[in-house]
Amino acid sequence: GLDGEVFVRWLRLAADEVERAADRLTELDSAIGDADHGGNMRRGFQAVREGLAEDGPRSPGAVLTTAGRTLVSTVGGASGPLYGTLLRRAGKALGDAERVPGAELARALRAGVDAVAQLGGAAPGDKTMLDALVPAVDALEKSGGTDFGAARTAAEEGAAATEPLRARKGRASYLGERSIGHRDPGATSSALLIAALDRAVY
Ligand code: ADP
Ligand code: MG
Ligand code: MG
Repeated sequence: GLDGEVFVRWLRLAADEVERAADRLTELDSAIGDADHGGNMRRGFQAVREGLAEDGPRSPGAVLTTAGRTLVSTVGGASGPLYGTLLRRAGKALGDAERVPGAELARALRAGVDAVAQLGGAAPGDKTMLDALVPAVDALEKSGGTDFGAARTAAEEGAAATEPLRARKGRASYLGERSIGHRDPGATSSALLIAALDRAVY
């Protein structure tokens, strides 16, 4: 099973990935949004990183729940409540077990992704973060919670596949047809988070 340290490592690696990619995320958001996605993600994950440094040893569920709360309270944009919901809901599903099997993590992430869909009213194909998250969870679930590399590939392909889509949710939807031809920033950051999970689990 995966212990709390794996989850701490996941979020630290995610913060690293976000830091590295922040300019690119903002560039993507400047094409179809308001040019703040890199800044939003950087601020949120910087706060998550600081929280992790202060907390003692924690269960997987507690690590995710705390990080989710931090994202909700530090990120002003749509992505804060959505990513916050993903992590809080997944953390709640994991409960307070010290170690969680991969299959249980897959189930918890499914609950998190379902909560994101409910909160934002979006579905795959709407050109949002769900276009990366849903295929990633599908791939992880299909492998019984063992193939994190497949989840990463599915997320990256899902993010790339948002380019020809017309946005139906979020700010980008205000552009209508003009949202076509640009990759969704949130799907791109979601792929980074799943890549970080793949690196954290090894
Ligand atoms: P804001 O749009 O408030 O400036 P961000 O720029 O941080 O927030 O995040 C934008 C991203 O949030 C989008 O690229 C998209 O992936 C995601 N997003 C926006 N609205 C929704 C929604 N209703 N459901 C799912 N994801 C959404
Ligand atoms: Mg934005
Ligand atoms: Mg904004």
